Amino acid sequence: MPNLDCIIVGQGIAGSNLAFELLKRGKRLRIIDASWKSAACLVAAGVINPITGQRLVKSWKSGQAHPYAKKFYAALEGELGCSFYHDRKILQLCKSAEEHQLWQKRLQDPEYAPFIGAHVDCEDQSSYKSLNAKFGYHFIERSAWVEPAAIMPAYKRYFLRRGVLEESQFDFARLSLHSDCVSYGDIRAQAAIFCDGAAAVGNPYFSWLPYRCAKGEILQIASDAEIPEHIIHRGNWLMKCADGEFRIGSTWDRENLDEIPTQKARAELLAAAASIIKTRKFEVLRQSAGVRPCTATTRPHLGRHPKFPRVLSFNGFGSKGFALTPFFAAHFADYLYGFGALDPEADLKRHIKKFYR
Ligand SMILES: Cc1cc2nc3c(=O)[nH]c(=O)nc-3n(C[C@H](O)[C@H](O)[C@H](O)COP(=O)(O)OP(=O)(O)OC[C@H]3O[C@@H](n4cnc5c(N)ncnc54)[C@H](O)[C@@H]3O)c2cc1C
Repeated sequence: MPNLDCIIVGQGIAGSNLAFELLKRGKRLRIIDASWKSAACLVAAGVINPITGQRLVKSWKSGQAHPYAKKFYAALEGELGCSFYHDRKILQLCKSAEEHQLWQKRLQDPEYAPFIGAHVDCEDQSSYKSLNAKFGYHFIERSAWVEPAAIMPAYKRYFLRRGVLEESQFDFARLSLHSDCVSYGDIRAQAAIFCDGAAAVGNPYFSWLPYRCAKGEILQIASDAEIPEHIIHRGNWLMKCADGEFRIGSTWDRENLDEIPTQKARAELLAAAASIIKTRKFEVLRQSAGVRPCTATTRPHLGRHPKFPRVLSFNGFGSKGFALTPFFAAHFADYLYGFGALDPEADLKRHIKKFYR
C-alpha cells in the first residue's frame, strides 16, 4: 500500500500548481483527475490583470500574487520544457467619456500609476485603425497571459512522466478516514486535498461552502481584421491567437452551470467583437463553455474540513485561477507543514459558523 503525503483531487490549474509546489518540497503524492471532464482551466483566457471590474480597482492580492506568479511560471517553463507565460500589455479601450475620466483619475493615484502606461484621448490619435477607440485607450502594464492550451497538457505530461497522475473519476465512496491517515483503494496518505473546481458544489465534504459558480463562454473567430498582439479589453477581452484568428470572451451566467455552448452567449460575444473591431466579417470557428469556481465572498476556500481535518479544500479561485494559484499554492503548502497560518480572508473557517451543519 503506497504511503503518501497527500492525494490531490483535480488536475486543473489549482491542483497542478499545488502538486508542483508540493513535489518541489519533496512530498509524495497522487493526483486523481477525471481527464479534465469539466475543467474551467481549458476554457479560460489565462489573463493576469492587475486592474479589474467596472470601477477599475486593483484586484485582490495582485501586489503579491502577480509578481509571484511571474517568477513561478518562469521557473515552471524550465521544468516543463515549454513556453506558456507571456508578459503582455492590456490595451484597455474606454467604453465612454466617463470611463476615460476614471482612468485619468487612477493615473493621478500613486498606488495605480505604475500599472497604467501610455494613453491616447481619442480615435484620431490612435494607431489602431481596426479598433474602436472612440473614447481613447490606456495601456495596463504588469499584465500577462498564461497560455492554457500550452501549460495544461505540459503539466499533464510532466505528472504522467513522474508517475503521480491517475486519470479517473474520484469515487467518494472509496475514501476512508482514519485517525492517522486517509485511504483510497490501495493508497494511504496523510491527507486528501480537493482541488475539484466547480464540482465542489457536489462534493460531500465541501458543498456547504458558499460557492456562487459562474458559467463562462468564449468564441474562437476567423477575421481579416488587423489585431495587435496585446490583450484587448473593452468590457470583454479579445486576443489574437493565430494569424487571422482571435478569441473573445467571456460571458457570465450564474443559472445554467453546465458546459453546453449556447446561442445566447454566441450572439452576446459576436456583438462584443463588433463593438471592439471595425469589421463585421466574422466566422465562428469554435465555441467553448466552462464553469468558474466562484465564491460568495470572491475569496478562495482554503483549509481543513471542520470535522475531518485530514480532508482539505484548495479551491474557489473564481475567475482568477491562473493569477492567484501559484502564490496560494506556496501559502497553502506552508500552512500544511506548519510554517504559517492561512490568510484569514481565504481561510474556510470564516464560513463554519454560518454555513456548516
Ligand atoms: C470563460 C472563462 C474565462 C476565464 N478566464 C480567466 C482568466 O483570464 N484568468 C484567470 O486567471 N482565470 C480565468 N478563468 C478562471 C479559471 O479557469 C479558474 O479560476 C480555474 O480554472 C480554476 O482552477 P481549478 O483547478 O480550481 O478548477 P478547474 O480548472 O475547473 O479544474 C478542476 C479539475 O478537477 C477535476 N475534477 C473535479 N471533480 C473530480 C472528481 N470527482 N474526480 C476527478 N477529477 C475531478 C476536473 O476534471 C478538472 O480537471 C476563466 C474561466 C472561464 C470559464
